[in-house]
Amino acid sequence: MKNFSLAIHGGAGTLVKGMMTADLDTQYKTALQNALDKGYAILEHGGTAIEAVEKAVITLEDSPLFNAGKGSVFTANETHEMDASIMDGKTINAGAVSLITGIKNPIRLAKDVMEKSEHVFLAGIGAIEFAKANGYAIEDESYFYDEFRHQQWLEIKDSDSFQLDHSAKKDSKFGTVGAVACDQNGNIAAATSTGGMTNKKWGRIGDSPMIGAGNYANNKTCAVSCTGSGEFFIRAVVAYDVSCLMEHKNMSLKDASNEVIHNRILKIKGDGGLIAVDSKGNIAMPFNTEGMYRACKSSNGKEEISIYR
Ligand code: ASP
Repeated sequence: MKNFSLAIHGGAGTLVKGMMTADLDTQYKTALQNALDKGYAILEHGGTAIEAVEKAVITLEDSPLFNAGKGSVFTANETHEMDASIMDGKTINAGAVSLITGIKNPIRLAKDVMEKSEHVFLAGIGAIEFAKANGYAIEDESYFYDEFRHQQWLEIKDSDSFQLDHSAKKDSKFGTVGAVACDQNGNIAAATSTGGMTNKKWGRIGDSPMIGAGNYANNKTCAVSCTGSGEFFIRAVVAYDVSCLMEHKNMSLKDASNEVIHNRILKIKGDGGLIAVDSKGNIAMPFNTEGMYRACKSSNGKEEISIYR
């Protein structure tokens, strides 16, 4: 049997040790462990990488601790607009949704776009219509209401600023979630889901639903899920850049991931991180911020759950 592995993230940002209470620290680690266990169990039982990343991300979307699904941040209009994407490295099929409201698990919808539509990327009203046609319940806004996130928004709502969920100054954190997996057949996949950035305006779309920017998978190279200031990750085409460095420069997963996060994106002042796997089950989880909620497990015995640098 080949080596198989799963890595997940719950966002990167100014996560400095000591800024968080011991109780909150435990809550985050427990939530990460839960998502890791659920995704890994699928791989262990011979399931596909796509199934594993979907399950891990759904579990994170259902937790109010992360900025995706239930815990999504507020837009400038006091609403929630979520983005998600998923990609299968075996077939190079992909599905993505953006600017969606009322959907409990955006990653499921992205997977349905991949599997049940002729398209790759659906946004806004059209994406919701597609969801309804496929039997999705539309949740009331109250499902996504979180007092902490509402406070975050109230603090900056009258300004032009928008901010990463886990980042600096105002509250200190990013919160997009993601998962990458390599299954027992050496097939890999990536999934990413987010509420975007607090106080975002005018139909702003980040890197998370953009194939190649915040999410990418190709069995030939790697599966990547990103978190960070989306505007920079889009301009640097981060996820695809890791793949290109492996394909065209023959770099290892680790070297390619480090080059993009610690050199290329930093040069344009982009902050954040990524998780990545290759078809041998190797894992990389670099970030250039103070911390990144992250966890991974591999059939070769490696297991890690960490927050800080
Ligand atoms: N990358 C996400 C965005 O820009 C934010 C995050 O990673 O928390 O929408």
